[in-house]
This record gives sequence, structure tokens and C-alpha cells, in this order.
Amino acid sequence: MKELEKAVIRKRKLIKKHQEELKEMLESCTHKGFVVEKSHYFSGSYYDKAHTTYWNECTLCGRKSEETIKEHSYYG
Ligand SMILES: [Zn+2]
Repeated sequence: MKELEKAVIRKRKLIKKHQEELKEMLESCTHKGFVVEKSHYFSGSYYDKAHTTYWNECTLCGRKSEETIKEHSYYG
């Protein structure tokens, strides 16, 4: 059990190190060539008109732009 415990601790330290390195790498992301346009459609309800939310997202680091909401003229 002692050996396993040591191995687990070692592995956890390694994961933490890798996560920190990854975070640093992604902080310098220029998003160039990785930006995709995303949207989410809300079909509306009895009280709310339908709308679509648009934003850009970097597929490499996951950073998102501000959202723009386009409201539609109909209710759900
Ligand atoms: Zn990015």
C-alpha cells in the first residue's frame, strides 16, 4: 500500500505540473486559425420571444468572445 501511495502522490504532482504548463501555454494563445462561430437557438416560450445567441470561441484555449443576441419576432 505504501508503494501505491507514493506512486499516486508522484502522479498527482506530475498532473499538477502539466496543468500549470498547459495553462501557461494557453495564456499565450493568439486564437489565430482556431476561432469558430457558435450559436445557440432558444425557441421561445409563451412569454418570451425566440432568440439566437452568437459568439466566437477558440477551439484551442476555449476562450469566448462577448455574446450578441438576435431576437426573433415570434413566441414559442
Ligand atoms: Zn485561443
